[in-house]
Amino acid sequence: MGAKILNGTELSKAVKQELGEEVREMVQRGVQPGLAVIIVGDDPASRVYVNNKKKACQEIGIASFEYALDANIKEKELIDLINVLNKDAKVNGILVQLPLPRHINEENVLYAIDPGKDADCFHPSNAGRLMIGNPMFMPCTPAGIIELINLTGIDIQGKECVVVGRSNIVGKPMSMLLLAKNGTVTVCHSKTRDLPEICRRADVLVAAIGKPEFIKGSFIKPGAVVIDVGMNRLENKKLVGDVEYASACEVASAITPVPGGVGPMTIAMLMRNTVKAARLQNGI
Ligand code: NDP
Repeated sequence: MGAKILNGTELSKAVKQELGEEVREMVQRGVQPGLAVIIVGDDPASRVYVNNKKKACQEIGIASFEYALDANIKEKELIDLINVLNKDAKVNGILVQLPLPRHINEENVLYAIDPGKDADCFHPSNAGRLMIGNPMFMPCTPAGIIELINLTGIDIQGKECVVVGRSNIVGKPMSMLLLAKNGTVTVCHSKTRDLPEICRRADVLVAAIGKPEFIKGSFIKPGAVVIDVGMNRLENKKLVGDVEYASACEVASAITPVPGGVGPMTIAMLMRNTVKAARLQNGI
């Protein structure tokens, strides 16, 4: 058990404290950042995430506006609400908690959000800006991961970085941020051959798969920094990551725990984006 534990809970507290000070100054200048959080249906995991986001808003002094909608709501009604929020000056950021019920097209909903209020950074305009190296907002989970990697003191430049997972929410934007830091990036997915072999090349290994304890200690290069994005609820209710924590700790130089690693940093970065959105919209 030699690995340094990258404590996302503690780091997120420091980020939120800084943001809290920034927000206090903004409020003195007459601007209170506001975040609208839309939740559709009553998925218990989504409810926990939404509550955590609202709590973070409260801690920082961001106004939060919750819209809890019935699972049967029509896609058009949801988009109509987004259009109203797009025009509401008190709302600087808009977040739609995913997943949405099957009858609603997620893309149509996310694309309806004004890119300037897209605190989650999921809109194609923001994804595109990230890709060309001119981001308006940083994607929350990947940005939080960069902050966690910074805790180790390593310089990403020139390092072998392997990202397992290529989702639009985590894997792809993560690879963009590592590339922007001059890492040599390999992106793996379900069709990748010899995954353990590729993982063993990594100085920085990011696992965003959604499969409990899939990455074993034997996949890890001695001394690597291991970031575990996975949040998998086992039948016994235990929450585990995509990395087999105990065996990984034997080999890695640093590792994020689950829970208490990437999750809290994702929320802190969402708060940062909301504050930035409020600044941009108010020209301060
Ligand atoms: P997705 O299901 O959208 O993507 C999973 C990715 O993993 C896909 O690209 C898939 O490949 C790849 N994959 C699946 N099986 C394998 C395999 N056997 N070998 C290699 N790659 C594989 O998930 P997300 O990116 O949204 O989330 C990943 C995990 O991170 C989940 O556990 C989620 O709960 C968690 N998460 C945590 C967050 C946090 O704040 N801590 C935020 C967001 C997500 P392919 O594309 O080929 O299907």
